[in-house]
Amino acid sequence: MKVLVVAERKDGEVRRVTLEMAARAASFGEVEVVAVKGERYSPLTHGAAVADRAADADLVLVGATLNGRDLAARVAAKLGRAYAADCTDVRVGDGLTVDRPMYAGKVRATARLPLPAVASVRPGAWTLPAGAAAPAIAEIDPAADDGRLRFVRFEPTASGGKRVSLAEARVVVSAGRGLKGPENWKIVEDLADALGAATGASRAVTDAGWRPNEEQVGQTGKTVTPDLYVALGISGAIQHLAGMTSSKVIVAVNKDPDADIFKIADYGVVGDLFEFVPAFTDALKRVRGT
Ligand SMILES: Cc1cc2nc3c(=O)[nH]c(=O)nc-3n(C[C@H](O)[C@H](O)[C@H](O)COP(=O)(O)OP(=O)(O)OC[C@H]3O[C@@H](n4cnc5c(N)ncnc54)[C@H](O)[C@@H]3O)c2cc1C
Repeated sequence: MKVLVVAERKDGEVRRVTLEMAARAASFGEVEVVAVKGERYSPLTHGAAVADRAADADLVLVGATLNGRDLAARVAAKLGRAYAADCTDVRVGDGLTVDRPMYAGKVRATARLPLPAVASVRPGAWTLPAGAAAPAIAEIDPAADDGRLRFVRFEPTASGGKRVSLAEARVVVSAGRGLKGPENWKIVEDLADALGAATGASRAVTDAGWRPNEEQVGQTGKTVTPDLYVALGISGAIQHLAGMTSSKVIVAVNKDPDADIFKIADYGVVGDLFEFVPAFTDALKRVRGT
């Protein structure tokens, strides 16, 4: 069984999802980790290069990131292979068995595919074993550029680079309309800083322009799978849950005891977030001595 893991880098660093896939794939069979040379993802030249390299692989694993999802679908199409997108688990034996959320997270499906196949795996779906060695990465050249696609410019977002990337953060602190306005976001940021977390938001918040769109979590926003997801003043609409129910531990703070978010929360605080969160952040800092 030969597994090809496609590595992704951000700002020169190998993304955690690559390490997670490489570590897990070692239990499937022989693993090769490859990265296409160059910092910027290019769908046509990268898709062709990876498909070429993957020709003799039984399984191709790609991180279900923004670029990874695009790449994985291209590689599967080019090779004419079965493709499972956005998996939360992948098992081999009698073909390939995958778990993946469907219908905006309302159901979790288990599907069986014939090998060879391609799968994209959600960041955080597999735990990175402590002390796991970084895999050797083989650099491959992008395919020849036929000029059909031209890079014009890259505009980093205003919030880019300040905190850990939302999609890969191990801890996410998200907030909703319960925050009342953008002027109160310091409460969210203070807690996020104390936890070393990325910040997220509900769509009510991004639609209102309180926070940038790239912070939106949910069906039409980002999907996150952190170890800890903290939801502050978020009601728990199904479209929000679609982006965060695979989080390992969910903590919700809401003043409404009947809020839907409590149905999926592991820990819930029924109370006013303006009282609870600053006090909790202070207590956290005291305990940690920061
Ligand atoms: C096609 C479609 C796609 C969508 N995609 C997304 C998506 O990707 N992501 C997303 O988030 N939404 C999405 N939505 C919107 C979604 O349906 C909800 O409207 C939205 O998630 C609500 O955001 P919210 O929880 O912040 O606000 P609300 O539903 O208004 O909830 C605010 C919560 O704050 C609580 N609260 C208020 N004051 C306090 C306080 N002082 N202390 C504690 N709690 C307090 C309230 O009890 C309430 O539960 C989508 C909708 C549609 C139709």
